[in-house]
Amino acid sequence: MELAALLVNELAVDQVRGRRADPPADRRAALEAAFQRQGWTPSHALTSADADRLVDVAAALHLAFAGDVGALNQALVRHAAVPNLHGDPPVLAFHHPGADLVDAWAADAGTALAMVIGVGQGVRLRSCEADGCELVFFDVTRNASRRFCGLSCQNRAKATAYRARRRT
Ligand SMILES: [Zn+2]
Repeated sequence: MELAALLVNELAVDQVRGRRADPPADRRAALEAAFQRQGWTPSHALTSADADRLVDVAAALHLAFAGDVGALNQALVRHAAVPNLHGDPPVLAFHHPGADLVDAWAADAGTALAMVIGVGQGVRLRSCEADGCELVFFDVTRNASRRFCGLSCQNRAKATAYRARRRT
C-alpha cells in the first residue's frame, strides 16, 4: 500500500501542496530519496531504466486510486500478478520469483490496491482534497474521514474556507 502511494506521489501527480510539481529530472534519484524518507531499502538497486518504466505503473496506480478498476485490472495482467510463496520460510508475494523489479513492484502494489477495493474499502484510497494538491494516501482513520494529505494542506484549506466565508 505504501509502495503504491509512493510511486503515484513521486511519478504521477502534477500538483503537490499547492505547487506545480514538475516531473523529476532524475526519476531514479527522486525515488531513492523517497525510499530513504520512508526508511526503506529496496531489495534490488533501481536503475534509471526501471525508474522510467515505473512512470507507466504509477499512472495506472493513480487511476486505481481514482476508482478506475479497469485500469488496475489491466495493470495486474500486464505485470503478471500472481500469488506466490517466495523463499524459506515462505513469504507471500504477488509476483513470479523470476519477475524483474518493475513487474514485481507493479504486481505487489497493484494487488495491494485490488485487495483494498475488493473488500469494499476503496473509499480509503484517497486523493488530497486541498486545492492544488493531488497527493494520494491510504486513509486509516476509523470512519474513513481523512480529507488531506497532511497538516500543511489541511491548514491551507482552512484558510481558503475562512477567506471564502469573509467574502460572503
Ligand atoms: Zn495535499
